[in-house]
Amino acid sequence: MDSQLGPGPRRILVTGGSGLIGKAIEHVVIKEGDKVDGEEWIFLSSKDANLLDVVQTRAVFEKHRPTHVIHLAAKVGGLYLHMRDNLYFLRDNLRINDNVLQMAHELGVTKVVSCLSSCIFPDKTSYPIDETMIHNGPPHDSNFCYSHAKRMIDVQNRAYFQQYGRRYTAVILANVFGPHDNFNIENGHVLSALINKTYKAKKEGTALNVWGSGNPQRQFTYSLDIGRLILWALREYDEIDPIILSVGEQDEVTIKEAVEMIVESLDFKGEILFDTSMSDGQMKKTASNAKLRRYVPDFVFTPLKEAIQRTCEWFVENYDSART
Ligand code: NAP
Ligand code: GDP
Repeated sequence: MDSQLGPGPRRILVTGGSGLIGKAIEHVVIKEGDKVDGEEWIFLSSKDANLLDVVQTRAVFEKHRPTHVIHLAAKVGGLYLHMRDNLYFLRDNLRINDNVLQMAHELGVTKVVSCLSSCIFPDKTSYPIDETMIHNGPPHDSNFCYSHAKRMIDVQNRAYFQQYGRRYTAVILANVFGPHDNFNIENGHVLSALINKTYKAKKEGTALNVWGSGNPQRQFTYSLDIGRLILWALREYDEIDPIILSVGEQDEVTIKEAVEMIVESLDFKGEILFDTSMSDGQMKKTASNAKLRRYVPDFVFTPLKEAIQRTCEWFVENYDSART
């Protein structure tokens, strides 16, 4: 791939390199060989440095002296973890982001790509949502702390540009899933939690318990597609303003439709229950990928059914080592 990253060797540090999206980027770079000459890749986990700690953050940046950073590390979780732990989604993410962005600035990192989420947009809004609408009103109550912390990344990026000319930007992701996701039933995002629940229900001969009505809609996007698009953003996307990386509005499905795909992939024949005593969260957060399409009109997203099938296969094959 052509690159606009500038001359000379590039050391690209990926914070959160051991997570869902970090592993997807690693797969694209190492297994698919999407590597530009002169690039050196460093994938960090929390074992390399606790980014909540400014001293450890400085030490890991001084050790690797990156020229570019893909900043993924965050306190991440599904709807029900947010509802239990809202305050720490704010405090931890504010600290991690401030440590990473300031250290990148102090050590002269020329570009940072951070991750926002489509759940941070205003709850009361017109649809589809686009990149210009992030700060237009309060986010949904269920994850207001994570949302405010993520919104601040956009504010920080603009401030680092205004004050120091730094080209730090952000991508906005919808619901991402794939191999290496967190499949924990209590804390995980919906698809990974439901893949694990379905696998267990089949093994134990019990019903599958879906939380909520099944009616909310989501734009599920395969992690390997996101890995490829984040590489594109690092190498080609030159704006400070964020960009939505997601399947289009036409690919939005209900939770119920996604459940049907999981059930088919895992060949589950038991009863499916919808527990409407559990929150539905946001009913929808339909985001437009028109800006992305203007830049990369030909990018082909993996069809949802195929991506769910591949994720189920990965989960079954890697059950013993997967995050459950
Ligand atoms: P993930 O699978 O939960 O991985 C989180 C990563 O962050 C792990 O590598 C973890 O390291 C690291 N981390 C967490 N706390 C840390 C700390 N205190 N110090 C250092 N590292 C720490 O998350 P993901 O789904 O890949 O998400 C990546 C980014 O995309 C996040 O910024 C998230 O907000 C954003 N995003 C994700 C989605 C989604 O649907 N998954 C949607 C929108 C936006 P360990 O493995 O060592 O714990
Ligand atoms: P969100 O997209 O940010 O709201 O977060 P999630 O990925 O956790 O998805 C939450 C949506 O999936 C809500 O509508 C839930 O009611 C629904 N859902 C159904 N079953 C589950 C489950 O087992 N776990 C989770 N996290 N969500 C579920």
